Amino acid sequence: MDFSPSPRVETIVDTVRRFVKKEVLPIEPELRRKGFAAMLPVLQEKRQRARETGLWAAHVPEEHGGAGLSLTEFAHMSEELGRTPVGHYLFNCQAPDVGNMEILMELGTPEQKARFLGPLVRGEIRSCFTMTEPELAGSNPVWLGTTAVKDGGDWVIRGHKWFSTGAEGSAFAICMAVTDPEAPEMHRRASMIIVPTDTPGFELIGNLSIMGDRGGDWASHGEVSYQGARVPLGNLLGEQGAGFTIAQLRLGPGRIHHCMRWIGICERAMDTLCQHAATRELAPGKPLGEKQIVQQWIAESRAEIHGARLMVLHAAWKIEKEGAYAAREEISLIKFTVARTLQRVLDRAIQALGGLGMTDDTPLAFWYAHERAARIYDGADEVHIEAVARRILRGYGMKGKQDHR
Ligand SMILES: Cc1cc2nc3c(=O)[nH]c(=O)nc-3n(C[C@H](O)[C@H](O)[C@H](O)COP(=O)(O)OP(=O)(O)OC[C@H]3O[C@@H](n4cnc5c(N)ncnc54)[C@H](O)[C@@H]3O)c2cc1C
Repeated sequence: MDFSPSPRVETIVDTVRRFVKKEVLPIEPELRRKGFAAMLPVLQEKRQRARETGLWAAHVPEEHGGAGLSLTEFAHMSEELGRTPVGHYLFNCQAPDVGNMEILMELGTPEQKARFLGPLVRGEIRSCFTMTEPELAGSNPVWLGTTAVKDGGDWVIRGHKWFSTGAEGSAFAICMAVTDPEAPEMHRRASMIIVPTDTPGFELIGNLSIMGDRGGDWASHGEVSYQGARVPLGNLLGEQGAGFTIAQLRLGPGRIHHCMRWIGICERAMDTLCQHAATRELAPGKPLGEKQIVQQWIAESRAEIHGARLMVLHAAWKIEKEGAYAAREEISLIKFTVARTLQRVLDRAIQALGGLGMTDDTPLAFWYAHERAARIYDGADEVHIEAVARRILRGYGMKGKQDHR
C-alpha cells in the first residue's frame, strides 16, 4: 500500500495552500467582524483570483467546466480549503451547490444542464436544497409533508421547509416533494423538482437564527414556503419517485467533502493550539506546553485527526472503486467519527487558549458555534450509528427493518 500523494495531489495542495495564505488569511479578521454578506464584493474579487489557479469547481469534470479532479484528489483539496471558513465558497465547491451540481450532472436533461448546471458551475448563480421540514423529523427522510401534484403541464408544489442552506440569493431550489403518495414502498413516494426562486408561490420566509447569527447570502439557513408554486413537468430531476435514491447519491461524495473540510478545520485548530502552547508562558520560562494535560490534548488530537483522515480517504477510494451504495457503511462511519473528532479538537484548542479562545481574534469560536451542526446535518450521529450497527448485527442473524439509508 502506497500512502504517498501523487505529484498531481501535491501540486493541488500546494496551490491551494499558497492561495489561502496569500489571499484569504489576511481578510479573515475583517470577515469575522463584518460577516459574510457584507464582504461579498471582496469575496467576488477573490473568486476571480481562485479561477486563475485552474482549480475552480474542481470536483466538476472538464466537459462541464470544472477542473475534473477525482473524488480522492478533491478530498485532499477540500482539506486545504477547510482551513478557512470561506475556502470552498471561493473555489465554487461549497455546499449545497456542490451536491446540486453533482445530481444535475448525473441526472439532468440537456435543457436542465444548460439552464441550471452551466451557470452554477460558472459561478453566475447559486442554488439551495429544500428537503427538511419543521413539522416532520428530518432523520426519517421518507416522511415528508410537501406535495407536488400534476396539473396540466405543471407540478404544483405546497409545503414548508427549513434549514435550506443559502436559500437567500439562490436562483433555484431543488425541492423534495411527495409525488406518489400511494406508492407501496415509502422510499418511492418523493421526487426532486427544480424550482426557480422567482416562481410565484416560492417564498423565502427568512433566515433562521443559528447560535445568535442569522448570517446572510450563501452563509445562511432559510425557512421556505411553497404556496402552490407552479413549475413545468420538465423540471422533474431524474425519475418520478426516485427522490430518496437521488438524495443518497447526493450525500455519498458530499460526506467526503464535508469530512475533509472538517479535517482542515482540525488542522488549523491544531496549529493555533500548538503555537499558543509553545509560546504562552504560565510563569517566566514556563510554557503552557510543558503541562502534561496540554501534551495529552495535542497528542490525542494528532492521533484522532490522522485516523480520521485515513478513514475518509479509504471511504473516498471505495466510492470511486465500487460506488456510493457499496461504501454506505464507510460513509456512515466517517460521518459520525469525523464530526466528533472535529468537536473534540476545537474544544481542546479553545480550552488551551483560555479567554483568547472565546474571542473572535481566532477562527476557533466561529467554528465552535457554526460547526456544532456537523453532528446533525447530513444525518445525525445517532442515525449513522444505528445504520452501521444494524448492518453489522444482520451479519449475526439479527432480523429487523431493512435500512435504506
Ligand atoms: C447547519 C445546518 C444546515 C442544514 N442544511 C440543510 C439543507 O441545505 N437542506 C435541507 O434540506 N436540510 C438541511 N439541514 C437539515 C438537516 O439535514 C436536519 O436537521 C437533520 O437531518 C436532522 O433532522 P431534524 O433536524 O428534523 O432532527 P430530528 O429528525 O427531529 O432528530 C432529532 C434528534 O433525534 C435523534 N435521532 C434521530 N434519529 C435517531 C435514531 N434513529 N436513533 C437515535 N436517535 C435519533 C438525533 O439526536 C437527532 O439530532 C441542515 C441542518 C443544519 C443544522
